[in-house]
Amino acid sequence: KSLKFDAQSPRPTKKQKMAGAGPSGSKQAAMQEQRKQLPIALGRDAIIQEIKDNDVTVLVGETGSGKTTQIPQYILESGLARNGMIAVTQPRRVAATSLASRVALETQSQLGSLVGYSVRFSDVSSDKTKIKFVTDGMLVRELMGDPEMERYSVVIIDEAHERTLRTDVLLARLKGILKKRNAVPTEGKGKGKERAPKNPLKVVIMSATLDADKFSSFFGNAKILYVQGRQHPVAIYHTSTPQPDYVDAALRTVFQIHTDQPTGDILVFLPGQEDIESLDKSLQLYAKRLPQDAPGILTCPLYASLPASQQQQIFVPAPKGMRKVILATNIAETSVTIPGVRYVIDSGKCKEKRWVGRGVGGGFDTLLTRDITKSSAWQRTGRAGREAAGSCFRLYTEDAFSALPLSAEPEIRRCSLVASMLQLKCLGQDLEEMEFMESPDQEGIAQALMALYLLGALDDRKHLTDLGRRMAFFPLEPALSRAVLASVEFGCTSEVLAIVSVLSASSKLFVDTTDSRESAREAHTKFRHISGDHLTVLNVVRAYEEVLQAEGGADGRKASRAALKDWCVRNYVSHRCLTEALEIRAQLREYCERQAIDWRASCGDRVGEEQAVLRSLVRGLVQNTAFLQPDGRYKQVIGHSIVKIHPGSSLCDKKVPAIIYDELVYTTQIYARGVSAIPRNYIAEVPLLKHKGS
Ligand code: ADP
Ligand code: MG
Repeated sequence: KSLKFDAQSPRPTKKQKMAGAGPSGSKQAAMQEQRKQLPIALGRDAIIQEIKDNDVTVLVGETGSGKTTQIPQYILESGLARNGMIAVTQPRRVAATSLASRVALETQSQLGSLVGYSVRFSDVSSDKTKIKFVTDGMLVRELMGDPEMERYSVVIIDEAHERTLRTDVLLARLKGILKKRNAVPTEGKGKGKERAPKNPLKVVIMSATLDADKFSSFFGNAKILYVQGRQHPVAIYHTSTPQPDYVDAALRTVFQIHTDQPTGDILVFLPGQEDIESLDKSLQLYAKRLPQDAPGILTCPLYASLPASQQQQIFVPAPKGMRKVILATNIAETSVTIPGVRYVIDSGKCKEKRWVGRGVGGGFDTLLTRDITKSSAWQRTGRAGREAAGSCFRLYTEDAFSALPLSAEPEIRRCSLVASMLQLKCLGQDLEEMEFMESPDQEGIAQALMALYLLGALDDRKHLTDLGRRMAFFPLEPALSRAVLASVEFGCTSEVLAIVSVLSASSKLFVDTTDSRESAREAHTKFRHISGDHLTVLNVVRAYEEVLQAEGGADGRKASRAALKDWCVRNYVSHRCLTEALEIRAQLREYCERQAIDWRASCGDRVGEEQAVLRSLVRGLVQNTAFLQPDGRYKQVIGHSIVKIHPGSSLCDKKVPAIIYDELVYTTQIYARGVSAIPRNYIAEVPLLKHKGS
């Protein structure tokens, strides 16, 4: 069954000749040739001159024009960063790591030497590093040890158009830092001679969309530079009817293109990992049914939590006679440019983080699938015309497109401000008094103040407490750092670290696909702890560690990767999650050591353990607590939402007096996920709640 599309005339674009590959011998020579052919190469000298002349420069250029990979190298070569490093921020870690690899390759250096990256729980840089790719969150974190960013000579805020909360925080901070670091000293001798600041800072703001005026005016009308992109015409097709099942529609469109259209890779935009995995499976299944002599299909997923080893896969050209189908989230919109794409399939959907019901106490963070914006739709379309004329198949109608909002609301207006507020407090700044590009609303501020107060990070005069400072030290959500710190009091740091590490990993622990639900449930039974999901997680980590130790044999070597993987498959738990969790735990142990916390502290007996672990968790998850109501549902203790226990929880269908949970997810109703049963009095034990109302 094929899908019906209505054609629309191609978006008018400038035509340009394709870059010739060049008759070079080696791969390196070809790559250097390719660098020279990038649109940005023409503007190189002019751009460097502008950066030299101005404190802040805004650079706008079409995706793929070479901003992210080239500008840091140009700056390095120009000597502008003689006294410090160049930071390049990215909203997503997968972009930070893969771009660092690329630039290391281009500079013919080992990743981690001249070019490195630093993302949460993974730092691949050294004292030789001059160009460092960082997530915006990581750079905010670095501020705590280096409030004026003195180790950097140049800070490049990339993908600024995405307006993540961390990017907005950085921009606000940079404004103050520039004033300090670039002020011309007024005191001292040296008349006649030009007085210069000691360690001046350059800021470059890069964006793929044209709305750069906002950035410019925020920085006192900073200079805006435009790089001419290389864009070929793209024919746009809309479906004639709405497609509620966009995964199925995407599947049919892939095969329609594959059978009807000339060679060229296909890039499919989907909202998230689950849809990507589901389409990947179907594609592989149907690809097997293709006629023997027909060209094959090679699928390449790309999403935020994809392991680094698989990331590079997307840049490897498909073997001859194969068509590559890349299944990506909006990461492929502007952050990562994938060569070879001629066809784009746009589901019209993305995932958006949003705090719903932002009022005090109530509300929760959600990650909901929603319609994209017009700006995203154009970015997605553009990906088909990078190397030659292409086509974009939109899985929505033309009317639906017209109804899309122009651009997304900045995160500062829709996400929880708790973590950022705490970090800023540590820098002596009040988020509510700072000048942002767009100010957060009162509700969001009130919610964050309340949360930090309940965690004991702020006192009743909104002053940062010693506990708050220690919480901010850990690279964790404030709620989880609070639980770790509480575990010291209850003597169960070892247990809590194991649980927190799994909760901080980027993939889920339990594997549970629709076709294996029964066997998965059965396999999980042996890990199940009567109190619920948190101690169940602990049981899994322990069982995994036992395998890790036991399989080693007499020479004390650790179990083979294959054996561990096999154990995970048999038990329907994610090997990826567990390996990542153990790495995270190793790092958290180091953080503990630096705070003189004994991470080996453990309860010993199982009864004491349950109590201690749950008490520690309640300190952190104090806002995530609910009491049983007569109707069998649960009502938040702080806040007003009525929640049900998620069907995936080990406590599903159980009625217990009170629960704590990791998060709320909203589908048809509000579900609590990651749930444990607790005695009601644990909640009253939280120090601040004891005083509340008295
Ligand atoms: P921009 O930041 O302007 O969107 P980039 O600097 O990211 O552009 O990309 C410039 C070029 O480098 C693109 O043509 C892209 O295909 C190529 N490129 C980037 N990363 C890689 C990689 N890991 N492997 C191969 N090519 C890459
Ligand atoms: Mg870029």
